Amino acid sequence: MLGRIQTRDNLLKRQVIHTAAEALCPLCGRVEESCSHLLFTCPAALLIWYDVYAWLGVSTAQIPVGEVHLLQFASIGSNKSQKLGEVAIWLTVVWSLWCVRNRIVFSGGELLKDQILEQVQLKSWQWLTARRVEFSYSWFEWKSNPRLCLLSL
Ligand SMILES: [Zn+2]
Repeated sequence: MLGRIQTRDNLLKRQVIHTAAEALCPLCGRVEESCSHLLFTCPAALLIWYDVYAWLGVSTAQIPVGEVHLLQFASIGSNKSQKLGEVAIWLTVVWSLWCVRNRIVFSGGELLKDQILEQVQLKSWQWLTARRVEFSYSWFEWKSNPRLCLLSL
């Protein structure tokens, strides 16, 4: 939200890296990596968001600004508990994208879309199970019907 994560555009500004080629997005390799590109507009990130929307059974436009994106994402639910559940999912998507980006940068490899969706599903279920006493759904229930689980919060 504050634009302070160490994406390559920030590293270029701070002269940690020195060329435009070094500043390319590690996921797509097409444009300079910025926070909004990496998390919201990168074609690789979009695939993850579309998978998450499909998992949630939601059809929506993708918004490229983090704060507005979060507000839109958390507006699916109708009450505060549901919105908190959606925020947990949103955070797990952002966290998962950041982790996969770092894995690719520091260890190599590639973006495995299905593994990221599974990671999002698992982490959001773990976070909600740990943080919300009233959230008592099995992993199977959460993975197969998250909207129903969120509606019951
Ligand atoms: Zn990209």
